[in-house]
Amino acid sequence: MTLSELRKQPHLSVSAIESYMECGLEFKFSRIDKLKTKYRADAMVFGSTIHRVLAEYNQERLIGKILTTTELQDLFEKHWITNAKGQEDISYKKNKSFELLMREGKELIGIFGASIEFSGMHQHTVVAIEEAFEFHLQGLPVPMIGAMDLVEEDDQGGIHIIEYKTAAAAYSADKVKNHFQLTVYQIAAKANGYGDREIKLGIDCLIKTKEPKFERYVTARAYVDESKAIKRIQTVWKGIEKNIFIPNTSSWKCKDCGYLDDCNDWHNRD
Ligand code: SF4
Repeated sequence: MTLSELRKQPHLSVSAIESYMECGLEFKFSRIDKLKTKYRADAMVFGSTIHRVLAEYNQERLIGKILTTTELQDLFEKHWITNAKGQEDISYKKNKSFELLMREGKELIGIFGASIEFSGMHQHTVVAIEEAFEFHLQGLPVPMIGAMDLVEEDDQGGIHIIEYKTAAAAYSADKVKNHFQLTVYQIAAKANGYGDREIKLGIDCLIKTKEPKFERYVTARAYVDESKAIKRIQTVWKGIEKNIFIPNTSSWKCKDCGYLDDCNDWHNRD
């Protein structure tokens, strides 16, 4: 099943859990009340455009073709025009614009292309791209669902699960070590046929600093990490079941929150 088919059923996902934990009220507006936001953050549209380009890069790898840096940049240009040109609901941050993000995106994709070309990072065999998954946990009446950006296999049969991210700054070692999404991917991989394999986890990070750069972070998870992630999922579910949706007015999300008016209305209600 595809991720969009899996989404038709009641479910939980990493993004839902992280949304609930960051601001319960934003989670409620978005996923329970299904309110539409008034605008989309430029970073979100930019990130999904990069994702699209990287998915197509891997589709080509599946048939044995490695796209050149120029071809990757052309792909970014094509998808950025489709996703963002003339889209009035995109909210651009100060000093950002369609044109500027076009330049930044092509530069970032160019750095990705050059990095993988010189590092030989495409040596492994592509097993799956945007592989949808679901798994069930005790005490959870709905499945956890999601999709892994890239699954590769090495010569020894080890499985490498890669998540693509665009970020404003490089990740710290702690951030990689505690990355919840990667832990969930490991649980999902074990539940979906990779239980007998060595599983390695990685983040391919395109970093939008003044001097853009690309870094791959590789990590692994122990049983205790899986147990903690499962406990977190089960506890979030209990909160949702009990209709506990706590606003976090000091969240980093408040600045660009598309539900600001709804949030003010909610706070002014008796
Ligand atoms: S404005 Fe802040 S507190 Fe209000 S819903 Fe959005 S993220 Fe939550």
